[in-house]
Amino acid sequence: MTATVQGSATLAIAQHHFETAATQLGLDAGTRSVLAQIKRELIVHFPVEMDDGSFHVYTGFRVQHNIARGPAKGGLRFHPAMTLADARALAMFMTWKAAVVNLPFGGAKGGVIVDPKALSVTERERLTRRFTTEISLLIGPDRDIPAPDIGTGPQEMAWIMDTLSMHAGYSVPASVTGKPTVIGGSEGRHAAVGRGLTTVAVQALRDAGIDPAGATAAIQGFGQVGSTAAQSLAAAGLRVVAVSDSRCGVRNERGLDIAALGALKQEGGNLGDYGGAETLTNDELLTLDVDLLVPAAMEAQITRANASKVRARVIAEGANAAVDPDGDAVLHDRGVLIVPDILANAGGVVASYFEWVLDLQAFFWTSGDVNARLREVMVRSYDAVRARAQVERISLRESAYQIAVAKVAEATEVRGIYP
Ligand code: NAD
Repeated sequence: MTATVQGSATLAIAQHHFETAATQLGLDAGTRSVLAQIKRELIVHFPVEMDDGSFHVYTGFRVQHNIARGPAKGGLRFHPAMTLADARALAMFMTWKAAVVNLPFGGAKGGVIVDPKALSVTERERLTRRFTTEISLLIGPDRDIPAPDIGTGPQEMAWIMDTLSMHAGYSVPASVTGKPTVIGGSEGRHAAVGRGLTTVAVQALRDAGIDPAGATAAIQGFGQVGSTAAQSLAAAGLRVVAVSDSRCGVRNERGLDIAALGALKQEGGNLGDYGGAETLTNDELLTLDVDLLVPAAMEAQITRANASKVRARVIAEGANAAVDPDGDAVLHDRGVLIVPDILANAGGVVASYFEWVLDLQAFFWTSGDVNARLREVMVRSYDAVRARAQVERISLRESAYQIAVAKVAEATEVRGIYP
């Protein structure tokens, strides 16, 4: 039995997928114990001055799972339910994700236990800057490059870059990705997760014998991943019939106006304010009779409890670990094709890789270049995952994990970093 860390449903999911792949690959015990463990983790407690002059002490994390294939890469999550165990799990997903799409990165994740919506902009800036200083022991363009995740976006990345640059005494744009373009962010980065997801979802629909033109889609979550997936799927000719966020969902069988919904959210409105659609709960959205379901909100949304009620024929996991292993088994038995998270949402880290490389070279591509190269990587990666799945008669998830774990294992072994 390998040494593992305990602590959350998401971590249990991450460990399950790794252990399955390690067993299927016949990984030797030494390599297996290295890959099962977290390489490095930092817990920080830091004070932030609130607008009323009081101080609040927040807790944050930065976790690096594995750096055998390159610098650590992974998002920062600001969420009240963030835990160290979740950061460990999400860092592991990042290691496999970078490997399955063949980027020279290891996996990391971090975040702060905070509800960012409860903070003013100035409080959020002070929190982000102080947290950055605390974790600057670990992060930097050659070591560990953060990016957005739940509760963070381009503005937080700008504050992080500025804080690290103040410490260095010069601009260090390659220190984070997902920045605004005016300070070295890449064209096409914001929409990249949705675009990448669309590329692989369209292939999967075809593999399932469904014509993507006019196919129906439902999307849980309308943040960076969900909203860009909605735009991109609609542009690819699908009919997005339902979307939701943490407050409510909306549904219209004739198709939703994604641009109008995006504008509504941008102005601070609720999805429920959108006219011409009925409202529905998240549970109802997950069980709609659609061709494609994209869970793009939180982990463990499809489990043993609701998997038998899911009627979609293809699922593209926008959120990490949206389907847990029990849910996976039920859906697999029912013939539902699942494009796993480490492939389906890899568009973000692919575009982040481009951004990091471009920052290091101070040379930028057009959005056309970024989109074309992103598509190339996603198609190549999907084809490799599907080919292995067909040969080995395994699921796309098992195939993606086998490819990723084998690559990281090989890098670990060739470097000779045995315990
Ligand atoms: P976000 O904060 O931009 O959006 C999250 C969305 O989910 C919001 O619309 C929120 O209202 C909704 N939501 C939260 N709880 C919900 C619930 N219980 N039911 C329905 N909706 C709910 O976050 P994001 O960046 O879009 O990330 C979403 C998921 O995608 C996470 O699992 C994240 O790790 C993963 N991911 C993000 C990126 C990225 O680049 N942002 C890349 C790859 C994977």
